[in-house]
Amino acid sequence: MKIAIDGPAGSGKSTVGAALAKRLHYLYFDTGVMYRAVTLAALQRNIAIKDEVAVSELAEHINITVTPPDQDDGRQYTVWLDEKDVTWDIRSSAVDNNVSIPSSYPEVRAAMVRQQRRVAEPGNVVMVGRDIGTVVLPDADLKIYLIATAEERARRRFEELQKREQSADYSGILSAIQRRDEVDSSRKASPLKPAADAIILDCTHLSPEETTEKTLALVLEKIKTPAQSQR
Ligand code: C5P
Repeated sequence: MKIAIDGPAGSGKSTVGAALAKRLHYLYFDTGVMYRAVTLAALQRNIAIKDEVAVSELAEHINITVTPPDQDDGRQYTVWLDEKDVTWDIRSSAVDNNVSIPSSYPEVRAAMVRQQRRVAEPGNVVMVGRDIGTVVLPDADLKIYLIATAEERARRRFEELQKREQSADYSGILSAIQRRDEVDSSRKASPLKPAADAIILDCTHLSPEETTEKTLALVLEKIKTPAQSQR
C-alpha cells in the first residue's frame, strides 16, 4: 500500500506518519525535509530566497538524502545535504520562516516530486507532506488529511521546543504557523488542500497515540474492504 498523509504545519503528520509506518513495517518519508533542505542550502550560500531562478537551479543540483537515524538524539531519521548532516539545521527558525517561499516555486516542486515518486515507487510507504494525495501520489491507496486548530498546533510546537530546551515564544510560533498556512494554501503550485478522496481527521482533541490508532484502523479497513472503500 501507499499511504499519503497531508495537512498543515504542526498537525502531527510526522509523529503519526512515523508511528504508523513503524506499526506496519513500512518506509516512512517526510517530504517537508526536502523543501527545508533546499531553503537551508539557499540561506547557507547567500542565495536570495526570492530569486526564483537561482533557487530553482540550486534545487536541481543539490543532493538531499534521508537515511535511518545514525544518532540517538531524538531524530526520526538523518537528513544529508551534500554529505553534511543537516537533520537539526533544517529545523531552525530561519528555515521555518523562509521555507514557504522556495516551496512555492514550480521548478523546485518538480525536482522534489520526481525524487519523492522514486522513493515511493516500491510501495509499502507512508509519505507525509502537503501535496502527497493531490500531486505526488494521486493513486495512493489511502489518503489522510490531518487537521487541528492553529492554537493547538502552536501549543504542540511550543512544547516540543521546550522539551529540546530551545527558547520558545508561543505567540511568535502561532503567528509563524498562521503565516505558513496562508502561504502554503494560497500558492499557485500544488497548494495545501485535501484530495477529493482524502479522509479528513481532526486531531485537535486527540493524543498522537489516539490519532495513530485511528489511522491504523483506516488502514485495516482498507485492507479488508479495498473494493468497497474505493467506490
Ligand atoms: O512539514 P514541514 O513543516 O516540515 O514542511 C515545511 C514546509 O515545506 C511547508 O510549510 C511547505 O511550505 C513545504 N512543503 C510543501 N510540500 C510538501 C511538504 C512540505 O510545500 N509536500
